[in-house]
Amino acid sequence: MKHLIVIILSIVPLLLSAKGASDTRLVVITIDGLRWQEVFEGAEETLLADSKQTRDSELYRQTYWRSTPEERRQLLMPFVWNTIAKQGTLIGNRNLNSIMQLANKTNISYPGYSEMMTGMVDDAIKGNDPVNNPHRNVLEAANADARYRGSVVMYGSWKSTRFAIHNEQAGIPASVSYEKPIAKKPSPRIKLAERMLEGMPHYWRSEHFDAFTYAFALETLLSDHPKVMWISFGDCDEWAHARKYDLYLDAARGTDAFIRDIYEACEADKFYRGKTVYLITCDHGRGFGNEWSSHGSSTKGSEATWVMLLGKGIEAKGETSECGPYYTKQIAATIASILGIDFTPDDGAKQQPIGM
Ligand SMILES: [Zn+2]
Repeated sequence: MKHLIVIILSIVPLLLSAKGASDTRLVVITIDGLRWQEVFEGAEETLLADSKQTRDSELYRQTYWRSTPEERRQLLMPFVWNTIAKQGTLIGNRNLNSIMQLANKTNISYPGYSEMMTGMVDDAIKGNDPVNNPHRNVLEAANADARYRGSVVMYGSWKSTRFAIHNEQAGIPASVSYEKPIAKKPSPRIKLAERMLEGMPHYWRSEHFDAFTYAFALETLLSDHPKVMWISFGDCDEWAHARKYDLYLDAARGTDAFIRDIYEACEADKFYRGKTVYLITCDHGRGFGNEWSSHGSSTKGSEATWVMLLGKGIEAKGETSECGPYYTKQIAATIASILGIDFTPDDGAKQQPIGM
């Protein structure tokens, strides 16, 4: 009898944690190439003043410039600083020695998403082409688990993002770059957004505007209730490459509003309310100062990344200091930990979850 009690007492916490995990929903949001500098310091004065990179400098200075980084970042990303910073955890402010960075040496997008989702670096992965990823990823592992099977989906603005999780093999429904939305129960609002995308000029060849990624993802969350969704935004990176600092800032502010809407809609829906973790991160950084528009192996500083966590079971640590270096390849382990699944990257090296 004594043994039985010991056995029961040792099993109960296991059952509770397994039940807890199976009840967990996860929304992963990536913002392509948004620098830690804008996230944690807001707009940069010299770039605002440069009329070649900021049209109507006076208006943009009024909109985004204040004397302290705390005021500036609040203006740029109010949801991040009013909600995530108070209720969640933020890592990556290098001014506070909170360090996160890429393990891959390319500092470009596809290898960044690959590192993030497969939990490892493959030096042969060094381009941005839309080719299937040879390695198993953590979303695929979730989709193979009975608790999440058929309930893992992704939306992305940029075409190559879906190939980073090679969804043909992984069986993860995905829609990117001018593809139709994948909702099983399409709402009138998603049909309207689909129609609008059909009529949009293709400003970028392999990427649509984030407003459509937002609309498709939000409507699919509410109609289909997937347990796991990856939403991949891309406007910030595109405007940065074009050296349009004004539009890059607008995109950062717009993405913050999209994230707020997604969070508020989920928390108003009983399928997600109180059960959902929101993980927000990026695929690479960018250079300093006038190098801000670039990233890559030869651009100093573009290895710098950041992550934010909010929601179920996430501690309200706020903005962290004196921690890391964490690596983007630990995101896969973090996702596995949130979902309560076992995940070993193809290189055999299990990583530690971040911020748990
Ligand atoms: Zn990128």
